[in-house]
Amino acid sequence: MPDTKPGTPHEFKAEIRQLLDIITHSIYTNREIFLRELISNASDALDKLRFETGRGATAANPDLPLEIRISTDKDAGILTIADTGLGMTRDELIENIGTIAKSGSAEFLKNLADNKDAAPGIIGRFGVGFYSVFMVAKKVVLTTKSLIPDQPAVHWKSDGSGSYDLADGPEGLSRGTILEIHLKDEAKEFADPERLKAIIRKHSNFISFPIFVGQDKVNTVPALWRESKFSITPEQYKEFHEFLTFDSEEPLLTIHVAVDAPVQFTALLFIPKKPMDLFGMRPDARGLDLYVRRVLIQHETKDLLPEFLGFVRGVVDTEDLPLNLSRETLQENLVLRKIQSTITKQVLERLQKLAKDDPDAYAAFWREHGRVMKLGYGDYIHREAFAELVRFESSALAPTPEAPAPLTSLADYVTRAKSGQKHIHYLSGPSRAALDLSPNLEIFRDKGLEVLYLLEPIDEFVMESVRSYKDFTLAPADKIDPADLAAFESTVAADTPPLSPEQQAALPSLAAAVKNLLGDRITDVRVSTRLRKSPSCLVSPDGDPSAGMQKIMRMLAKDETPPRKVLEINADHPLLRNLLRIHQTRPDDPFLATAANQLLDAALLLDGYLADPHQMVDRVTTLLTDASGWYADLKNT
Ligand code: ADP
Ligand code: MG
Repeated sequence: MPDTKPGTPHEFKAEIRQLLDIITHSIYTNREIFLRELISNASDALDKLRFETGRGATAANPDLPLEIRISTDKDAGILTIADTGLGMTRDELIENIGTIAKSGSAEFLKNLADNKDAAPGIIGRFGVGFYSVFMVAKKVVLTTKSLIPDQPAVHWKSDGSGSYDLADGPEGLSRGTILEIHLKDEAKEFADPERLKAIIRKHSNFISFPIFVGQDKVNTVPALWRESKFSITPEQYKEFHEFLTFDSEEPLLTIHVAVDAPVQFTALLFIPKKPMDLFGMRPDARGLDLYVRRVLIQHETKDLLPEFLGFVRGVVDTEDLPLNLSRETLQENLVLRKIQSTITKQVLERLQKLAKDDPDAYAAFWREHGRVMKLGYGDYIHREAFAELVRFESSALAPTPEAPAPLTSLADYVTRAKSGQKHIHYLSGPSRAALDLSPNLEIFRDKGLEVLYLLEPIDEFVMESVRSYKDFTLAPADKIDPADLAAFESTVAADTPPLSPEQQAALPSLAAAVKNLLGDRITDVRVSTRLRKSPSCLVSPDGDPSAGMQKIMRMLAKDETPPRKVLEINADHPLLRNLLRIHQTRPDDPFLATAANQLLDAALLLDGYLADPHQMVDRVTTLLTDASGWYADLKNT
């Protein structure tokens, strides 16, 4: 039950106390941004009021102009910010100012404490901007009256320590919120109107409601997106981007479009150089600001762009939606969907143009945003553009000490393909180094065939969905039949002598014996035509998905048993030659079982599947003990 006695003290929630503790006890170089936060709150309050009245709500004091007024008392060191927005009821006040609504606040606070210098920038992004006032205030008095007619005004007071005071506000107050900020001695500069005007022009120039300092209207360029793009300077775009995102780094791309058909809208979009970093705190923080005839309907409107373009920031303004739109039905809205498809196309086109005009800039973009972009694998409508935009590491493009491994497009891969090549080959692996050594790729290295390196699980889905590119089929390297590569010549000469006819004849029998010895640990044993250096490797049976895809499926199913696959053995490896000799003369020698299990375990280990290494280590120790004995005998005589 809300109590109504005047002047009752209330405790801040624990996380707010911590936040305030950090804010009040730190010295910030960038304190001025508190003003941006408070003006942004005032502007939000005005936006919400306009939204509510737009959909037919009756507001108290309907004739009040929508504006923000700032006044100062230099001598007393007081700064006052008043808005005619929707105000707050007593319950809303307790709810909105006094708790952190977002989850993950503990981690956020820890980050804040660890990164004091970055704090002013991240406070606002995380949605606790109000408290930044305590960077400059020793006391804050907030008086607010809700738009709901007949709600009493409320009075809130705090010095930024553990608690705040709530009381009834004065009678006869009109709708909105007034913040009276009693400045700290070392923050008296913020009672200087000229200083305030400069800060507002820097940080709040695009607020869509007039901001007055004294009698002067300070902000000048509301709704930049509505202006003709020929009249806008690059500097204005940059400023607007910073205003919108709090990101002072220039965006990678600015996309400004005005469309008349099939729906009318304007959009001003930015692709930032780096993803918005909120310490993973708000993974769903994406979407565009949706305006209808300059009235803000919703921040972070997710239905305006597909998830895989979630890094795009900006605003969309349309004439073709009613103002009294309910947020709940936005999702099914046809106009919105048409806007979405138009701007998705625009963004993809601009990215393709960037990739063409400035491949290095595009590669840098991909390194930052590729993870999100890859989610586009599920989007069949834009599959063609998507296939042009994906990038991979490749066996053909090695890193240098100065630079990370270059990325390639499918188009570039195709230009390097050998004549007669029908596949774009790829393989998943935990790292570039692992793939460079993968036994499955030995035949590709030998024949000089390029293989794309998939280093993230999602890449497998990308390949499955793209399927083919131009005349090439995308094919996992571990699934390729080496016979399909027969047309491509070896580049490396074999250094083992060819098998004798007797050895050749005994080979199938060795494979059968190994299969027998390994029982149901494998599905089959084959003499490999893909191996060059390694004695053995695992290959997926026909019909199974690629090794990488299996790994994902097993991960999702939490299946930790080693997979059953085909073990391929390399008859040109000295180890197999030795086993063949043993098999030919003493087919029942127990050493063959030891060796067979070791070959399989080694292959499983390379594929990351050897869950229990004990048997293998034990076996290796026994083998080394024997070998070292023989070695000592040999050397010591
Ligand atoms: P955010 O603005 O991201 O929600 P803040 O800490 O800046 O976080 O503000 C917290 C909440 O306090 C706002 O969401 C809003 O509900 C309320 N609030 C702050 N200032 C005002 C204001 N001038 N008028 C009405 N409500 C306000
Ligand atoms: Mg805010």
